Amino acid sequence: MSALPWHRDALTRLLADRARLPHALLIHGAPGIGKVEFARAMAAGVLCESARAGLACGQCPSCHWFSQGNHPDFREIVPEAAAEDDEEAEGEAVRPEKAKSVVIKVDQVRAVADFVSLTTHRAGFRVLLLHPADALHPNAANALLKTLEEPPPHTLILLVTSYPARLLPTIRSRCRLLALGTPETRDALAWLREQSVDEAETALAAAGGAPLLARELAQPEEAELRRRVVAELSKPSGADTLSFAAAIDRPRVERFVYWLQTWVSDLLLVRMSGAPRHHVGSASVLAARAKSADMEALFELDRELAEARRLAAHPLNPRLVAEHLLMAYNRATLGAKP
Ligand SMILES: [Zn+2]
Repeated sequence: MSALPWHRDALTRLLADRARLPHALLIHGAPGIGKVEFARAMAAGVLCESARAGLACGQCPSCHWFSQGNHPDFREIVPEAAAEDDEEAEGEAVRPEKAKSVVIKVDQVRAVADFVSLTTHRAGFRVLLLHPADALHPNAANALLKTLEEPPPHTLILLVTSYPARLLPTIRSRCRLLALGTPETRDALAWLREQSVDEAETALAAAGGAPLLARELAQPEEAELRRRVVAELSKPSGADTLSFAAAIDRPRVERFVYWLQTWVSDLLLVRMSGAPRHHVGSASVLAARAKSADMEALFELDRELAEARRLAAHPLNPRLVAEHLLMAYNRATLGAKP
């Protein structure tokens, strides 16, 4: 598990003195900057038997197990839905919407209680990684609280979230907070090119500077959705609300909301200072749409989109959500109509 280039210095500083590591660390920052990768690299570094400047050597037995995903002193907890998504990334078969859990359940936290209280296999640290921490069900959070209150020695608990404010204050207050920032553009672009991402600048801008999100957005299917959403939002006559929303299903709604949010935020930017941040290739269209827009309504929509993004992981009805947001977009950009 090698660290992302822009995380190496922070990891080295953090792991310089293992004896002074906190027992719990809450890692937070914008989506798509590699927080989980940071946490995994930190876990690998802590468990490594011959770490160099805090970083995992990649050669020792511990590093070998870690890279195989079966280190006995490491556990990673995610919501069931996320675990299934990983398994089913290939070959998207049509399957009934069964109740996949998007929360981390209390049973999952209880199941690692033994892991945390036993002696370690390798007579070193044991590391528990939990993400996204904002997905902790309140009961699960309470179960975790007990471990956080009386941490066993040589235990490191890593919580990762893009939304620290959504965690119970009792959880937050028992962790040391670590804010990860967006990497320097130069570092991010170098990494994206190394990953063979086409049009790295455009992808990075679209992702608001977050490299892992940029790589995801550059995938052909993602790029196609973006193209369609942007084409729809660019129409001088407004978006075709009903027919466009009909194509927004559950897997796409979260991204749809992301594109609409970044577009609206760019409209506001263009009106105020002239240059878009995310949709840099659409500057002239944005300028045209922004000219007729009702600023008050745009600000209102921007707030609504922030809320919609929070709920997008499990919206009641993706099509209705999309329809409602597109109607609000049309009202905000086509001028005041009753
Ligand atoms: Zn090692």
